[in-house]
Amino acid sequence: MGSFDTIRFIDVTSEDMLLVPACAAGHHMADVQTKDFDPDENTQYVVWHGVLYKIVAQRDPVNEAPTLVDNDLIIKSTSTTRYKRLHDTVSVRAYTHCDQCLPVLFETNGYNWRGDVVTELEPWCEWELKFEKGHLLELEPIRVESRADVAKKNHTIERAHIPDTDRIAVRHFERTAEHRANVRRVRGR
Ligand SMILES: [Zn+2]
Repeated sequence: MGSFDTIRFIDVTSEDMLLVPACAAGHHMADVQTKDFDPDENTQYVVWHGVLYKIVAQRDPVNEAPTLVDNDLIIKSTSTTRYKRLHDTVSVRAYTHCDQCLPVLFETNGYNWRGDVVTELEPWCEWELKFEKGHLLELEPIRVESRADVAKKNHTIERAHIPDTDRIAVRHFERTAEHRANVRRVRGR
């Protein structure tokens, strides 16, 4: 793990779509991670309409006066974040996994850290983002695995792939559906 920077793709329009990383199934990523800027800073970058910006200041949210709506207490707040435009000509490797794709399931020989024999593996997605004077010019896939790739590559006698239609897989996906939905909600999907 260690430190990394985050690059978020914000306010994406249909014209921007070609320069937003997508998984093998075609889902677009809201953000990716990179160690190629200065990961010790743990900084947030954004790409807005193909141009790179770096966070410079974030003010704490300012709360408005509380009000009651249908007996529920409502507190509205606004926050302000400032980003400076970058003019760097740089290539960065960026990676993530898709949280819209289901993980690929395997049955292990022993119990994992959760005390379960079902283990999840997620397809690895990695690209090279090429910026020229701060403009994102190219998005080159380095390793964008499909779920089928993961199933094929990791299947062994000790760790057998469980097909999605398997009864155990169906039950596992049912049990973890709420958790996956929460993860997406946190990430603003
Ligand atoms: Zn996906």
